[in-house]
Amino acid sequence: MAPPQVAQVECAEARRLLDEYSDALKAFHDARSLLRTISPADPRFSAATQARENAFEKLAAARRTYWAHVGEHSCRLVAVNRDPEETENRLREDMLQARREFQDAVTQSEEIIHMARDVRATADGQMAREMAQRMREKAYDRYAVALKRFSVFVRTGQFLDMPSDRR
Ligand SMILES: [Zn+2]
Repeated sequence: MAPPQVAQVECAEARRLLDEYSDALKAFHDARSLLRTISPADPRFSAATQARENAFEKLAAARRTYWAHVGEHSCRLVAVNRDPEETENRLREDMLQARREFQDAVTQSEEIIHMARDVRATADGQMAREMAQRMREKAYDRYAVALKRFSVFVRTGQFLDMPSDRR
């Protein structure tokens, strides 16, 4: 099964938001990779740390906006009821995507916790930690919903509409 592609998102607005989300994710990974090459003694370290925090905030905002849209609009579910095979593929893709997003959220929250402990144990650090924790919990909830929906569909052919989609 190929990973979901941007082209498979049919709503133009969701597609635009997913592009922004993907760009923000890439920028965050770049900022993180750069920071790893700089030692804390280096004068550029604090600017690189700040750049990563900024990239993380942008990523969190892009992710929130994307999920708020698809939750409101249900535009990832347009294929449902068109054809059972297509529906099963779509639900499987949603589940795999949610799993990847959960794994990303786990990695990010671990890094934030590590960063907050290492760099400064301030109120900012505490806030970043709580935000990362919330994102991780939400990502887990979405993964759990996607997994349940997929497995219910495979077993029964029924599409489960769950209120937690609206989060
Ligand atoms: Zn949409």
